[in-house]
Amino acid sequence: MKKLVEFLKPFQVPIYLVLILILLQSLAELYLPTLMADIVDKGVVTGDTQYIWKIGGFMLLVAAGGVICSVTASFFSAKAASGFGKLLRSKIFSHVGDFSLHEFDQFGTASLITRTTNDITQVQQVLIMMLRMMVMAPMMCIGGIIMALSKDTKLTLVLAVSIPVLIIIILIVQKKAIPLFKAMQVKLDKLNRVLRENLIGIRVIRSFNRIDHEKKRFDEANWDLTQTAIKVNKIMAAMMPTMMIILNLTTVAIIWFGSIRISNGHMEVGDMMAFIQYAMQIMFSFLMLAMMFVMIPRAAVSAGRIVEVLDTIADIKNSEKPIEPATIRGEVEFQNVSFSYPGAEMQAISDISFKMIPGDVTAIIGGTGSGKSTLINLIPRFYDVDHGKVLVDGIDVREMTQESLRQKIGFVPQQAVLFTGTIGENILYGKENATEEEIRYAAEIAQAADFIAEMPKGYNTEIAQGGTNVSGGQKQRLSIARALVRKPEIYVFDDSFSALDFKTDAKLRAALKEETGNATVLIVAQRVSTIMDADQIIVLDNGKIAGKGTHKQLMETCNVYREIVMSQLSEEEIA
Ligand code: ADP
Ligand code: MG
Repeated sequence: MKKLVEFLKPFQVPIYLVLILILLQSLAELYLPTLMADIVDKGVVTGDTQYIWKIGGFMLLVAAGGVICSVTASFFSAKAASGFGKLLRSKIFSHVGDFSLHEFDQFGTASLITRTTNDITQVQQVLIMMLRMMVMAPMMCIGGIIMALSKDTKLTLVLAVSIPVLIIIILIVQKKAIPLFKAMQVKLDKLNRVLRENLIGIRVIRSFNRIDHEKKRFDEANWDLTQTAIKVNKIMAAMMPTMMIILNLTTVAIIWFGSIRISNGHMEVGDMMAFIQYAMQIMFSFLMLAMMFVMIPRAAVSAGRIVEVLDTIADIKNSEKPIEPATIRGEVEFQNVSFSYPGAEMQAISDISFKMIPGDVTAIIGGTGSGKSTLINLIPRFYDVDHGKVLVDGIDVREMTQESLRQKIGFVPQQAVLFTGTIGENILYGKENATEEEIRYAAEIAQAADFIAEMPKGYNTEIAQGGTNVSGGQKQRLSIARALVRKPEIYVFDDSFSALDFKTDAKLRAALKEETGNATVLIVAQRVSTIMDADQIIVLDNGKIAGKGTHKQLMETCNVYREIVMSQLSEEEIA
């Protein structure tokens, strides 16, 4: 919570302004009933019209002052709160940007989105309310009591009865409503999750005819949330008339006892009218406090969820004294590397050692789940190793800055991801200042130029959200082009040719070979034909190296490799 208060610091000025303005507004509102009492007692009763005009005019001024204060306060509190929300959102965004994949796994994408949007909005709204009520409620309560006492001490006894009744009702409502409010937040999360899964998985749902099932699932979550919301609203709705009854009964009691005191000559009519207004102000201040006590626990849940994100420190950090390699060549070496995912019993990869040198193509082959992607993710340091070392140009990747390490790598992930924007912009992603020529060249090597030319607007064709208007193979080629335009020292292709037909695959590899001549190239593939002519093939089996060498050597020495080859190629192809 302290952390969030810190984010309020830049908005100190508007916040103090709001507090001062509200203070002035409260003073004006406390003063008005007294002025009215004066008009009634000294003007109306004696028939002094001039006095009525004079004090009446003054009353108008005070009221106008109060309104101006109130409006300006609203303006500044909205400004402070939305500025606070903006700051917090950008802080979370950049903080999450530093997360390593561990932290993403930990929170889940959906939850991170809700926390950045919905939860911050909650806190923002409560902040606006707090700024208003924090000063207003105690001022009106204490000020009202003082003013009421100054009008008539004996009549205050009425309040001594009605205020405790009010407090008891508020406490009961709170006890019932707060747990429901908290439950609503959780149920909203669940509804979001169901909706998100539905939208993302719409193709699967349709093709398996599970629409009814999903509808039911959504309806359940929706119904659940609705029921809770209705319950909360019922309580809140019941609260209002109950409060009004108490307020009105209080008024009746004040008039009842007040008129007795007036007829006995202990009190004047104007004072009684003022007294009624002060009683209202006092009781409304309790209502405000009650609202605050309902809203704050609700916002506290959201605030907690925000702080949780901010407090999570990425476990991959730049080293304090980063080392830069003397020469950048692009040599990569694994030394006895082991790694396991958090919570997993088995190591995803264990005791991996091999070396890749510039100019050579290294290939990794192995069944699904054998740890290929895991191994590759260690090179750009998406995860840190448990044991052993990953060296790039002779330096442990943990000792370089992540920026300079990743600068050297052109990474094509297993899942090709494109961003909204044009095709050209997506390729430009690899190198910000690439010229048009460079973009075209990269696309050509990646065998993407042909299909881009056939697109309605060529390189200016917009990619739809999630890249739905390009095929899987086109997506793969675009993400290869994105890596190529960078001209890095190290290329990493994680199963990046899987969606290409054999012909395109072969053409692409031939073009790549020329382009990546002096670079270090690592290719993960399922197809033997893709990797057969690599300088070094590493066979992964259950996270361990089952064999290492050229195709020829492995055919003679490695059973696992031979099995893979047998299952894919015909006799003559092998020979
Ligand atoms: P491959 O790329 O060879 O198909 P992976 O490297 O993706 O295999 O996965 C290797 C093993 O690690 C699998 O058993 C998989 O279940 C596990 N794994 C992969 N990613 C994660 C993750 N983010 N969290 C936990 N376990 C994972
Ligand atoms: Mg994989």
